[in-house]
Amino acid sequence: MGKKDYYEILGVSKDSSQDEIKKAYRKQAIKYHPDKNEGDKGAEEKFKEAAEAYEVLSHEEKRSKYDRYGHGAFDGSGGFGGGGFGGGMTMDDIFSNFGDIFGGFGGFGGFGGSERGRGVAKGSNLRVTVKLNLSEIAKGVEKKIKVKKYVSCDTCDGNGAKDGSSVSTCRTCHGSGHVTQVTNTFLGQMQTQSACPTCRGDGKIINEKCTVCYGEGIVKKEDIISIKIPAGVAEGMQVKLSGKGNAPRRGGVNGDLLVVIKEEDHQELERNGNDIVYHLYLSVPQAITGDNVEIPTIDSRVKIKIDPGTQPGKILRLRGKGIPEVNGYGKGDLLVSINVWMPKNISNEEKKMMDKLQDSKNFEPQPDKSEKGFFNRMKNFFEQ
Ligand SMILES: [Zn+2]
Ligand SMILES: [Zn+2]
Repeated sequence: MGKKDYYEILGVSKDSSQDEIKKAYRKQAIKYHPDKNEGDKGAEEKFKEAAEAYEVLSHEEKRSKYDRYGHGAFDGSGGFGGGGFGGGMTMDDIFSNFGDIFGGFGGFGGFGGSERGRGVAKGSNLRVTVKLNLSEIAKGVEKKIKVKKYVSCDTCDGNGAKDGSSVSTCRTCHGSGHVTQVTNTFLGQMQTQSACPTCRGDGKIINEKCTVCYGEGIVKKEDIISIKIPAGVAEGMQVKLSGKGNAPRRGGVNGDLLVVIKEEDHQELERNGNDIVYHLYLSVPQAITGDNVEIPTIDSRVKIKIDPGTQPGKILRLRGKGIPEVNGYGKGDLLVSINVWMPKNISNEEKKMMDKLQDSKNFEPQPDKSEKGFFNRMKNFFEQ
């Protein structure tokens, strides 16, 4: 896929601090800001790339995931919800998420980005967190969530005016919503744009305001939204529902709803990528004589056979009992990591039995030299 390294994009080292990352991003964002590079596709790409890198590296949790798994940790924008995972941020997302990074830079600050030069206002994005358990993650789930969001006012049809008849074009900005100021500084003339003070950036003046929304065109309402979450999602992933976010003031396009996935811990199972790990503890006699033991899977329990003489550290693999890949191809496994429990207290009688076994040739340790042991096992284990 040849995706560029996030640290490389921002030009920082792997051990850089959050402060350094923020500074580096700010530098890039200003350099490639669309207001400075109008119509330059290359700059827009760079601007997006930097935002994506910053999105990940500025969150400790995402950053450590990225450090461990690389881009694979966030990829897999399987075709749903407009590919809202990790990558695939739109310009609007960038401005609504990181707009504050431009704070204090004259012209950049004032426009939330959403209204920037496209004539249609866009509402802000709404972010909600959805908690999922392992079984929901394995199968995919439809969740109904309650959100409080701005919706268009029914009474005035969203334009904010009473009876819909008393709207006129703002005379200060002639409908553009912004004013340009030219100031002379020792560096020369500087042009700054800011929202029109008369109409607050709307471009329109309402003579008589709607009495329900007080001229805003939007009202806050509780809504229940049903979200289909595909199987295989992971902590920190985002599902984007276009147009399900806040309505903008006085008409325009709704923002998006960003659903952030949170994983609930399972009592017995641990997730490692798409594999599931279960730590099985055998008693000494069980490990020696073999047994059939019941172990948990994601949504049931199964019996597995333990061979006589099973060594601790062995990992049994139950194929396909893990989590499916988020884009629908392949499935992880259930890995049963075998431990043998050594009793700490034994009776005198048991002690005598142990002493007897001590003399048996069968109990002499015989390290397996064909297997390179610890590091190899760990390597196999983590490279699934
Ligand atoms: Zn209204
Ligand atoms: Zn105006």
